[in-house]
Amino acid sequence: MAQRNCTGYILGSQKSGEQNKILIILTKQGEIIHCIAPGSCKAKNRFGATLEMFNYCDFILYQKENSYYATINKAFLLKGYFHETTRDMNIFYLNLIAEITLKLIPLNFKEERIFRLIDNILKSLNKKDIISLTIYFIIWFLKIEGLLFSLNKCSNCNSKIINIAYLREDYRGLLCRICQNNEEIFFLKEELNFIKSFANTHPSNIKGDEVKRLQNLLLKIIQIVQYHAEETLKSFKILKQITN
Ligand SMILES: [Zn+2]
Repeated sequence: MAQRNCTGYILGSQKSGEQNKILIILTKQGEIIHCIAPGSCKAKNRFGATLEMFNYCDFILYQKENSYYATINKAFLLKGYFHETTRDMNIFYLNLIAEITLKLIPLNFKEERIFRLIDNILKSLNKKDIISLTIYFIIWFLKIEGLLFSLNKCSNCNSKIINIAYLREDYRGLLCRICQNNEEIFFLKEELNFIKSFANTHPSNIKGDEVKRLQNLLLKIIQIVQYHAEETLKSFKILKQITN
């Protein structure tokens, strides 16, 4: 059994059997690790409140050969976001961010920028509204994954986008008014400018907008992620209900 230490955020948590939790950790190096925390669901357990969602911890893990799960031996809380995550709708949007990350990042893949992105989002929870932060997350996630297309030009005729742009049905570019073919999702100029401003700044500098406008924009861009995830995100279904 090999011992292994790592530092990271808990991005997934579910009960396994009567007494254990299965956790998914996003490490500082941007690696995803699936772990089992033995006895962590017992009323009295050695982990206390350390293993909550979005906690940032140091972990001592054991990895058995040929085992999918590492075993958490010890965990030390470095930073928790209990107050921030329990406020308003924060937990719902944070779960959406976690779901996107875990669905789209393949196992055995390291992407440090994803870690930094989530770290920045959590650190900005006190200062910025959660819907703007979620939009920020999605735009940067698409950018890091190489899935964010040009926001300035039509992907068909290369002409400059003027007042409105239609999202191609393969979600890989925008179409101008002339090239569009009644695509369902379109962006107005303000929305494109909003996305562009987000794509070029740190979350501490983002400026919010009206909740309704933000929700509409989020509903549009989340569909790009969902398309690439190749399945319906649980949080998307709930988001549609909240927004209506
Ligand atoms: Zn065109």
